[in-house]
Amino acid sequence: MPREPLITGSPLDDDEGAVPLASERELLWSLRPASLVEYIGQQEIVDNLKVAITAAQQRGEPLDHVLFHGPPGLGKTTLAHIIANEMGAHITHTSGPALEKPGDIVGLLSNVEAGEVVFIDEIHRLSRTVEEYLYSAMEDFSVDIIAGQGPKARSLRYRLERFTLIGATTRAGNLSAPLRDRFGIVAHLDFYTDDELAAVVTRSAQLLETPLAHEAALEVARRSRGTPRVANRLLRRVRDYAQVQGDGRVTLDLAQIALKREGVDDRGLDKTDRQYLTTIIEQYAGGPVGLEALAATLNEESSLLADVVEPFLLKIGFVNRTPAGRRATKAAATHLGYLDAALEQPRLL
Ligand code: ADP
Repeated sequence: MPREPLITGSPLDDDEGAVPLASERELLWSLRPASLVEYIGQQEIVDNLKVAITAAQQRGEPLDHVLFHGPPGLGKTTLAHIIANEMGAHITHTSGPALEKPGDIVGLLSNVEAGEVVFIDEIHRLSRTVEEYLYSAMEDFSVDIIAGQGPKARSLRYRLERFTLIGATTRAGNLSAPLRDRFGIVAHLDFYTDDELAAVVTRSAQLLETPLAHEAALEVARRSRGTPRVANRLLRRVRDYAQVQGDGRVTLDLAQIALKREGVDDRGLDKTDRQYLTTIIEQYAGGPVGLEALAATLNEESSLLADVVEPFLLKIGFVNRTPAGRRATKAAATHLGYLDAALEQPRLL
């Protein structure tokens, strides 16, 4: 079974939709921490992984299967590659939607070497049949293949090498219980603090050989929606601006101007965040409104709203999720200028 078509979503792919140039992709890749020591934040997860990796190495066994869940851009893929690095193992990178048929998953797993890391991004998007093949693969390192057809069909057990499956998902809730239960290590990645993101940005600036003032690093951090991917993207835009409009050094002033030009406000909200909140406030009188209705009004995928937009707005208390739907909060209305912060009086409504 050819393996190449299944290897999708290369770790070199990053944000921003457009396919980056080869040089830009190398640059993005170079910003990823390669070891646990370099990894910033998520301290509890890092500490637990250190113990699990050391114990597995002492026993000469592959690491237990790992499930990472949390919003996009927080470092799930990065951690999967770090684990492979730390274990000295080869990593195969694929994704739920790429594994369409049972043959895809059987082909992939029958090719793994002993100790290999198999990384499945968007694991919640595996079809139920493909998922069922994973159960025995994860538990007994074997898969049952049906040979022949009709009354002559026989089930053959195929033994696999022992491997580590690392799954990543933005939707742990969409994972079936039998699959979730087969992961020995389950870790939820949460948004980063401003100080952690400032450290990410400072590290990236050093790698990019860009002089960056500490206050500018903090400013980028504060406006990055708690997300390293966003922080690195904003740093690249700020760096461009400082190069063209200044002498290449990123000062606080230049960072603030560049971030404003990017449409990022002082709470880190971008155009989509603001449209989401404005729509709830203006078209649905502040809510509640169901996700699908909101997505239709905004002409956006509901999965984009649920996975990318809402987690941060929930985190900063700009939106509430109620059984009846989403509601914009007073804090959101105040931020967007619909309420007077001092009086909490409507300005526009
Ligand atoms: P996810 O798989 O959760 O969507 P990624 O692992 O692709 O996120 O991370 C997105 C980007 O953020 C990567 O390019 C990486 O450079 C950066 N990044 C993520 N976590 C960290 C971290 N803890 N320290 C430094 N950079 C990080």
